[in-house]
Parts: sequence; structure tokens; C-alpha cells
Amino acid sequence: MDPKAPIVDTHTHTRRSDGVASVIENAQAAHRRGCKVMCATDHLTISRELFPEDDYHVPEDELGALAEETEVARAEVPEVEIVRGFECDWYEGCEADVRRWSAGATFLLGAVHYVGSQAVDDPDDKSLYEGHGANEAWRRYADAWCRACESPASFDSMAHPDLAMRFSREGCHVTCDLTGVFRQMAECAHDTGRHVEVSTAALRKGLGTFYPNHELLVMFREAEVPITVGSDAHGPQDVAWGIERAYAYAFSAGYESFDCPRADGSWTTFEL
Ligand SMILES: [Zn+2]
Ligand SMILES: [Zn+2]
Repeated sequence: MDPKAPIVDTHTHTRRSDGVASVIENAQAAHRRGCKVMCATDHLTISRELFPEDDYHVPEDELGALAEETEVARAEVPEVEIVRGFECDWYEGCEADVRRWSAGATFLLGAVHYVGSQAVDDPDDKSLYEGHGANEAWRRYADAWCRACESPASFDSMAHPDLAMRFSREGCHVTCDLTGVFRQMAECAHDTGRHVEVSTAALRKGLGTFYPNHELLVMFREAEVPITVGSDAHGPQDVAWGIERAYAYAFSAGYESFDCPRADGSWTTFEL
């Protein structure tokens, strides 16, 4: 496929959260791959009370430095339009932190990495799946995901919607029919006005598909939920990874366009 749309990547991390490089290094990698718009979306707002040990989000006292680094990257790599964003963990009561910490950002990804205090995608902690079984874990995940959609934090796009597939090839396989759960997610995203993200990360994790999987993506499309497209890169080697394949994948699910946040806070719709 030869997409009419430019390559964009609306989901990248730096070492300010759990990535390995700077905004500048990521932008340079984006430029090498012909990527025209890159969103810097480091992790925000994991609850200190719930998860005192977790340190994968940007520390509050580094938010200013991250903003400055983004400005330097814009000057150093002018070929790539850099959008200031964050990937925000949803949890009960996160909204005040989201508001305070994301000041100045124009693009917010919503994400559910935890259901209650149990991790969804931590290879060292599969208690969510082992404790409840994969079927029940999925229902709990989808419920939290819908509540994240409904959050007054008004996330622009929901990252990796079926993250609970993460260990489906590693012993945490769902045996029930998820059609009803998927429909609930699609209706919720539609009713709350959210985008959902098509992420190439699942391919890199060996899942053999993208997030969301084909069945769920078709349901999002049937519910007229618009999409964003990102790599979820945690290092320069993955910036803009697989984006054109993601375009073809979205097209195969019936999508004819995707939306892209821009540095000035506006949005552009590109045809696939
Ligand atoms: Zn994430
Ligand atoms: Zn991410």
C-alpha cells in the first residue's frame, strides 16, 4: 500500500519516563524515517499512594525540563513537527493530577495499565490474570477502560485499547467470547467522544497483530470511533516503527482516514 497520508507517530517515550533517549534523539530518528509529526507522550499520573514503588512516570520536578527539551528539539529538528503530549494513567481520582501535571500539553493519551492495584502489562506481575483467570481479568480491564473513557480528564485518544491481550500467547489466554465486551468498549468510546489508538507495539511484542486486534478495531469502526496511530516507542529504534503497516491494517478494518494532533493544538484528518 502506498498511503496518501504522511508518516506520523502519536505515541513516543523518552528517558524522562521509561524510555531510553531524549526528545531530540527521538525526533532525529523520526526524521530519518520520514516521519512528519511526532507526539512526545511520556507517562504521567500513576498514583503515588497506590504504587509508591513505581517510577516510570515523569517526576513532577522534571516536567519543566521536559517542556524545555521539547522546545530545543523543535529548533534542532525543524523537519519534524513535535506535539507536546502525555500518556496518562487512569485510576480512580486521577483527574486533578492530570490537570496539574499536563499543563501546556495539547494531546492526552488515556491508558489503563492497572486495574485496581494489579498490573495489566507487567511481565513480572501477572497476578491480574493468574488470580482471576484471563476471562475475568478481561472483564475487569474493559470495565476500567470504559471508566477511563468517561473520565472528566477527557483523554483525546485511548492508547492500546486491548492491552489485556499482552500475555495472550504466554499462558493468559481468554477462552470466553469477548464480542459483548468489545461492543461495550466501542459504544463507550463513541458515546464519550474518544479516539482510539492503533498501536504497532503489539507487533513488536510478538502478538502477531496490532492493538487493537482486528475484531475490536472493526467494532470501533462500526461505532464510528476515529483513530490515531502510534508506535509507543521507548527508544529511537522504534520511533515511527510499522506506521505504514498500521495504515494498511486500519484500512483493512474499514477505516478510510485517521486523525492527527498538531503542535498548535489543532487536528488534521488524513486519508488512508
Ligand atoms: Zn501504555
Ligand atoms: Zn506508551
